This record gives sequence, structure tokens and C-alpha cells, in this order.
Amino acid sequence: MLTIKEALSKAREKLKQEGIESFWLDGDLLLAFLLGIDRTTLYIKLDERLSSEIESRFFEFIKRRSAGEPVAYLIQEKEFMGLSFKITPDVLIPRPETEMLVETGISLVSKMDRPVIYDLGTGSGAIAISLARNLKNEPHIFATDISPQALRIAKLNADRLKAKIFLLCSSLLSGLKGKADLIISNPPYVQRENLGRYEPQISLDGGIDGLSFYQRIFSQVRPLLKKPGFLVVEMGAGQSEAISKIAKRQGFKTIGITKDLAGIERVLVATLV
Ligand code: GLN
Repeated sequence: MLTIKEALSKAREKLKQEGIESFWLDGDLLLAFLLGIDRTTLYIKLDERLSSEIESRFFEFIKRRSAGEPVAYLIQEKEFMGLSFKITPDVLIPRPETEMLVETGISLVSKMDRPVIYDLGTGSGAIAISLARNLKNEPHIFATDISPQALRIAKLNADRLKAKIFLLCSSLLSGLKGKADLIISNPPYVQRENLGRYEPQISLDGGIDGLSFYQRIFSQVRPLLKKPGFLVVEMGAGQSEAISKIAKRQGFKTIGITKDLAGIERVLVATLV
């Protein structure tokens, strides 16, 4: 039987060999999860021995991770905006760069009185729930998703994180009534030929050019947005020019584009002209 230290170093070696860049963190997260402890505690227990059951489950995880399965699906959890979200293969795994989208949303409405917010394609609920948890001005947040399976996870997260949001099973804006101060979305924007293997296709597939959801959102949103009001979307690499054009064609003005840490234009803020 291996000690924690030995198991971790064997796991890191294997993950590294298989080209997993985050081999260090991933090994820690998987073993900490199996032991029901956090990473700090794991480091205090480095010389303790693993039971043969935990050891074999750990190396089973390492095998699946080596084959490309995301850590978040193995441990059914992902941290986003400092909150822990339940994640299953029914939903997209929240990305760190999406925190910028949320931060932008917060700064746009934090001074308003009881802002109305729509989150389109909420998935795990990460965006809507983080907004609910960070805004102190009694926001009314409605989050839609076309996938009932995703909404089940969003509901679970909202309950677990005690966030007051309203969930709606509908496609983008359909089913929403009344005007919002902020409409926010991280729509599927991956070009169809680049889709990955693990996450739900409907959360990623943005059509042939990756832009189909922006066309739909910008063309449908006008009657549901206050004036002034803001439409804030996340974008994929190299899409910001095309999305600004779509916005312009639909009577919007782009008032802000923010780059993420990798220098990719990631968040676009538009308003009605
Ligand atoms: N950022 C995700 C990726 O590159 C895509 C998310 C999305 O399509 N909205 O895999």
C-alpha cells in the first residue's frame, strides 16, 4: 500500500506522460476528493498510507483523467466565483474566464434598485447564482435553459448555495415577459467542427461559424431590454468583430470589449441605440 505522497507522485508521473498539463493540481484534487478532505489537509497527511480501496479508486480516476475526462466530471464539482458548484456531464464546466462576464454584469447593475436580469442558457446556473450571491440590491434574476437535465443541476446549485433565482425551461428568450436591465449569456459558440468529446454538445455547438446564437440573441432581444439596459455576452477567440457587426445590424452599439488573461477579447457589452 502506498503513502499519499507516493500515490501522488506516481499519479503525476502518469498524467504528465499522457500530456495532461494540470497534472499536479489534478492529482491533488482527485485524491483529496476520494479521501473527503481538502488539499491543505492532504499535504499534512503525506506520510499516511492509503487503504487498498482508495488506492485502486484513485488510479482508476487517474486512468480516466489520462484519457481526457475532465476532473470536474470525475469529482462532480467545480469552483467558480469562490463558490462550489455541482457539475455533471449534463452541463458545461464553468470556466475561469467566465468570471469576467459575471464581474462585468455585477458592475453594470450594482448601483441600480432591484435590477431585472435574464441569464440565457444557464447550464449549471453558475452565472445566475454568482450574480444572485454578489448583488446586494435585491436583483430579480431569471435563468433559462432548453435542457431539463441542466435545469435540474441549476436548481440543485441554487438550493445548495441559497441563491434566489427563477429557473425556466425555454429556448433563449422565449417565455420571458417584461423588460430587463441586464441580459447576460455565455451561449454555445464553438464551431461545429471543433466540438470536444466530453461536454454536452448543446452547450457548445454554435453552428458552422460558431455565431448562430449571437444572431438569434441580438435579433430577439430588443423588446425585452430596457433603455438604457445592457446585453453582455461571452465570446470565443476571434469572434468579437463579427459579433460587434451582428450587434450593429440589430440596432445595438458595442460599448465595451474586455480581454481575458490570455489576451482574448472575451466579453462584449452592448446597448440599444
Ligand atoms: N469556453 C468554452 C470552450 O472553449 C466554450 C463555451 C461556450 O461555447 N460558451 O470550450
